[in-house]
Amino acid sequence: MKVAVTIDDLPQWPHTPYPEGYTPDTITDALITALDKHHIPGVFAFSNSWALIKDPALSRIFDCWVDAGHYVGNHTHSHRTLHDVSAQKYIEDIELASHHLAPWVFRSPGRYFRYTLNRWGETEAKRRTVKAHLDASGYSIAEVTTWFYEWTWNRAYEKCLLAGDQDGIDFLKHSYLDFSLAQMNFDTQAVTAWYGREIRGIILGHNLPFMAEISDAMFDLFLKAGVEFIPFEEAAADPFYDQAASIVSDRFLVYWRKLASYRGQHIPVIAPGFEATYQRVKEMGQNTSTD
Ligand SMILES: [Zn+2]
Repeated sequence: MKVAVTIDDLPQWPHTPYPEGYTPDTITDALITALDKHHIPGVFAFSNSWALIKDPALSRIFDCWVDAGHYVGNHTHSHRTLHDVSAQKYIEDIELASHHLAPWVFRSPGRYFRYTLNRWGETEAKRRTVKAHLDASGYSIAEVTTWFYEWTWNRAYEKCLLAGDQDGIDFLKHSYLDFSLAQMNFDTQAVTAWYGREIRGIILGHNLPFMAEISDAMFDLFLKAGVEFIPFEEAAADPFYDQAASIVSDRFLVYWRKLASYRGQHIPVIAPGFEATYQRVKEMGQNTSTD
């Protein structure tokens, strides 16, 4: 299976602050080291620019990323989703990111945009307006064929860190490696069956503490299982992606599952046999009442 690696949300995860011991620098360094070690060059980071306004010195994160041979794509300025704002506001957010990320985007082999939470718009008018803007601005859409829910593992990981629960951390690391390989295999098989031929996949990780800890072992495991990492532009050029942002959907799903779901074909989202593991990790990350 041929896949391109992508990372989202540089320079700083927009949803929650990093726990003690982790910074945008330590996380980016860990990701770059893991990518280097496995000879995975030219990885696109779909990035936001809000953090640059808060702390302009965070531009060093993009400098490090690009100096290490990787690329930057547009992922909006403030990471609001198209379902939460008007098409006009969303377009303004794309343009703000275009402006602030320009020094690094211009060093990339193409202009790529990734929708926040891969949401294309919940009304036809919004979908069409934003898609037309991207087309007119020369942006190609960067999709995802497999994600591994590492944000769910990360929530549990941060809880375990706070509680000093080393057994919990060990469980999270082992279960994630087992799950991510199973998910990779399941999605590869399911998308091939659904589309009728092998496709060039695009996988996704985020700049999260758990990803910083696990990416080295995960890339290792994937390579040993026969995964071939290819440049993003090669994957994105697959005509398979021609239907990006082509339909109205309010589902939070990877590219081909969204298209399948629109046509009434419901493909399980979690690799068979891992539903209980996923559920357990989800519960580990939830707030537990103390009263
Ligand atoms: Zn994002």
